[in-house]
Amino acid sequence: MLKEVLQQIEQRDRFVLTSHARPDGDAVGSALACCQILRSMGKRADVMLRDGVPRIYQPLPFADQVMQSDFVNGNYEAAILLECGSIQRTRLRGLENRFLINIDHHLSGRPFGHVNWIDPDAVATAEMVYRLGRAMQAPISPEIATCLYTALLTDTGSFMFEGTNEHTFGLARELVRAGADPARCARNVYFAHSTAKMRLLGAALSNLYREGPLACIYVTHAQMESVGAREEDCEGLVNYALSIQDVEVAAFFRELPDGRYRVSLRSKGGMNVADVAESFGGGGHRCASGCSVDGPLNTAVDRVLQALGFRSLGKAQ
Ligand code: 5GP
Repeated sequence: MLKEVLQQIEQRDRFVLTSHARPDGDAVGSALACCQILRSMGKRADVMLRDGVPRIYQPLPFADQVMQSDFVNGNYEAAILLECGSIQRTRLRGLENRFLINIDHHLSGRPFGHVNWIDPDAVATAEMVYRLGRAMQAPISPEIATCLYTALLTDTGSFMFEGTNEHTFGLARELVRAGADPARCARNVYFAHSTAKMRLLGAALSNLYREGPLACIYVTHAQMESVGAREEDCEGLVNYALSIQDVEVAAFFRELPDGRYRVSLRSKGGMNVADVAESFGGGGHRCASGCSVDGPLNTAVDRVLQALGFRSLGKAQ
């Protein structure tokens, strides 16, 4: 499939690159790196993200060039969707009639493009972009390496998630050798939280529900507003619930303005949370997945707990 991606890229000159709405580190880092690789090969390429670049990823090279819009109207010959399970997840209009190249590492990734390179064995989409760059014989500049390293760092949970292996560290080594600065990348992501995020974490942890191997936290829309938190401030909060000793699976619920709930699920490896997210129309990986469910909160929590194998709040099986 890499071969077909290469062939299709070779035949074209103008590309738009994008990823899912509410982009995470792998989405932003992979799109920025892929864009620079294409430009270094003499192609014209732009990155467009529906929600722009979250604050913690704004120090990444060329992040300031990302276009924030909900409509793709340029004269592009192909759109490259990275780390994105469907066209809908981009929340962009104007992609429908374009030639689509889909590059993704999600187990739940669907072949929605004209060319689909889906590799669930890749630990991050960044790994696939690196392979693409090498196959194109593009020089891996310090800027490209920084974007890819940050994507790798965040998508492996700082090299802690299942799937992190010898090969992952081999890739990290290559990227550091190419000019990524691990301490600076980590500082930009992990020591740059907003005050609002920390206050939101406090609110979420004060709502902690623990039952055997399950930990559950939530934040309401009113709580988000009262601390001045943004959507992106919710990234990673679920990991605090998962970090508790003997907890095997964690869920984080965020109330949306319309009363629905965004759910983040995490597992230490024993349970496949991708299956659970998919049963609600979402997706992701064995250890990290997400979906949306209808409110109110008790109903949302009960439905997800049941799908995880728990009967309902307070009645773990
Ligand atoms: P998060 O909980 O951080 O939003 O997402 C965890 C993982 O699940 C990420 O890899 C993300 O791309 C994936 N994911 C989250 N929500 C959805 C969704 O609604 N659909 C799909 N297909 N994947 C999702």
